[in-house]
Amino acid sequence: MNGSLDRTRALRAVDRAHVWHPFTPMSAWLDDDAPIIERGEGCWLIDTDGNRYIDGVSSLWVNVHGHRHPVLDAALVEQAGKLAHSTFLGLSHPAAIELAGRLVAIAPGALTRVFFSENGAAAVEVALKMAYSYWRNRGEARDRFVRLENAYHGDTVGAVSVGGIDRFHETYRALLFSTASIPSPYCYRCSLGKTYPSCGVACAEALERVLDSEGDRVAALIIEPLVQGAAGIVTAPDGHLRRVTEIARARGILVIVDEVATGFGRTGTMFACEQESVEPDLMCVGKGITGGYLPLSATLATEEIFSAFLGAPEEHKTLYHGHSYSGNPLAAAVALANLDVFERERTLEHVAEIEVLLGELLAPLAEHPHVGEIRRRGMMVGIELVADRATKEPFDEALQMGAAVARAARARGAIIRPLGDVVVLMPPLAISREELTRLVSITAESIDAVTA
Ligand SMILES: *Cc1c(COP(=O)(O)O)cnc(C)c1O
Repeated sequence: MNGSLDRTRALRAVDRAHVWHPFTPMSAWLDDDAPIIERGEGCWLIDTDGNRYIDGVSSLWVNVHGHRHPVLDAALVEQAGKLAHSTFLGLSHPAAIELAGRLVAIAPGALTRVFFSENGAAAVEVALKMAYSYWRNRGEARDRFVRLENAYHGDTVGAVSVGGIDRFHETYRALLFSTASIPSPYCYRCSLGKTYPSCGVACAEALERVLDSEGDRVAALIIEPLVQGAAGIVTAPDGHLRRVTEIARARGILVIVDEVATGFGRTGTMFACEQESVEPDLMCVGKGITGGYLPLSATLATEEIFSAFLGAPEEHKTLYHGHSYSGNPLAAAVALANLDVFERERTLEHVAEIEVLLGELLAPLAEHPHVGEIRRRGMMVGIELVADRATKEPFDEALQMGAAVARAARARGAIIRPLGDVVVLMPPLAISREELTRLVSITAESIDAVTA
């Protein structure tokens, strides 16, 4: 044990000296003894000192069937025995070809073409370029995108441009292209001052006004279907997605759905779009696509969009975009195994059962004096902490209540990561009833401890 503590200390020293962690206020990091995760096992993470934690946010919303799943492990090893990487520019390979076919078969609507990238932000960049170039190739100048307030589509400059999280937007404003925005379906704090459910209708209809004034310049609407994840698991009222996309459709505007967070079962169906029978023109997927094993993402397009890029090379209708590791064979092989496990283990049926339990487990917490609202779609949960339930007054930002709850949960054996003062739970879909019960009770205890 002493040996392991020494090792942890040595690793931590190098981490503090040389690592720059993503989305991490590094001053605070230097004072924190965050675990160094060495192994995973099902829904558990194990650190270098042998401590075990429930992976309460699926290793940042990516893990699906648990860690070290035998089928996924075997697919990875098998592919490594053949080919780790070969370019997708000017060449092809079996794993990604097969994956494209499988994705098209399960995708909503009429999506027939798959463009691979390595992360969600890149999948969004590609969708934006496809939408813009689609119109350009058809001889129409449409350079405007409509996005939602509170939207999150990734951290690259194009993805931030169509994002609506004020803090990120403020920081990089001078670098971003301008967009038109419509309200967020954040009913708990409706920016239109409406109440549920009329707020959902009102905020969808805001799109009509935007399109009235500048519709002929708009290339596409981009939206996270059903759930605005990074906004704090903002769950749209029923019918909102359907209504917004119908309005866009009626005006001939392309619809881009960003299923990077919601895809692969997280909301209870394979893709969130299915729940409101929405048929997008472009769809971005990432995160859960490899079951949380390797970085891979994809932008799916309709044949109508794809065909606008056809022509002689000198017509320059080509999509000028690609990455060194586009369609990486190891990632594609694991993504295929991920889809196999969905079928073999009837993952969506399991989710249908445990999401009911999740709702039941969370119910008592909704009465907590410092819980303003609990939002949930399938296995995505946001628990919004407030200083005062009656007035919805938030806690002072300096108190960092969400972060404090996450630290308290860590001490009790669960890894969770908040979004501001929204405590997020998003366990692997494979989580058992016992593990889920434990995760929610640790979360409730941690909220009690921190707000006491
Ligand atoms: C996480 C996320 C992204 C960005 O994906 P990365 O792989 O982190 O680049 C994009 N859109 C949504 C909705 C996300 O939740």
